[in-house]
Amino acid sequence: MTFAPKKYFGQHFLKDSQTANRIVSFLNIDKCDKIIEIGPGKGALTQFLTSVTAYIKVIEIDSEAVDLLKNQFSDIEIIHADFLKLDLNSIPWKKYSIIGNFPYNISTQILFKILEHRDSIQEVVGMFQKEVAERICSEKKSKKYGIPSVLIQAFFKCEKLLDLNENEFSPPPKVKSSVIKLTRNNVRDLGCDYKKFVEIVKRSFSQRRKKIKNALKNFTNLNDSNLDDMMSKRAEELSVSEFVELTNMISNSK
Ligand code: SAH
Repeated sequence: MTFAPKKYFGQHFLKDSQTANRIVSFLNIDKCDKIIEIGPGKGALTQFLTSVTAYIKVIEIDSEAVDLLKNQFSDIEIIHADFLKLDLNSIPWKKYSIIGNFPYNISTQILFKILEHRDSIQEVVGMFQKEVAERICSEKKSKKYGIPSVLIQAFFKCEKLLDLNENEFSPPPKVKSSVIKLTRNNVRDLGCDYKKFVEIVKRSFSQRRKKIKNALKNFTNLNDSNLDDMMSKRAEELSVSEFVELTNMISNSK
């Protein structure tokens, strides 16, 4: 039983089972044994998950893949749904980890959904387009440091663990891939207004070559001298905690 890969679902199946096993082994099952897999496809990762934990839910959009998975795995919960539309609050687990060789066309949206549900998530082991993986993990003062780096690193420790070439997938994607691991940190409350923080990070990086004071024109009262130091830097020079500080300074200056 098999099916032809569907481009519109971003289907690129992992060929090597040793690599799949290695990716699964990046999960810290001792810390959290409830696992949600996004986009299991033909079960490349799922087959190894079943030997490390009994608590698995997989979410797959493609009905052909769902049929195949139901045949192959009788003991796991197979949810036929679009991950982006699924109400994660309906998952009865208090804490879970996420794994997946993510469909690249929706990887940013997956990340934002993960951020939204951050307080239920212990860790994420995910395959991303290499460039996106590097953006998530990069540190300040790098050209790759941007909106996803700041928003994700505010709540997760980020590590790049593995690079994969195009030919490790069938059919091969046009881009290289990397597996990263995000581990939830201890931050529950950022220490500033979260919505405002997101808006300031987005606005600051939308004109990343400009000084913050120019990027945030129309948004804040620039007459406050407390802001001067921060405001004359560029977005890529600010750490997560400096963005928090900036958010608080702007909130207080109004
Ligand atoms: N994990 C498998 C397949 C990866 S390909 C492997 O490594 O071989 C990406 C998978 O995500 C495909 O099975 C695709 O059907 C599924 N997918 C794509 N969009 C999805 C969505 N919105 N929700 C859930 N699954 C999705």
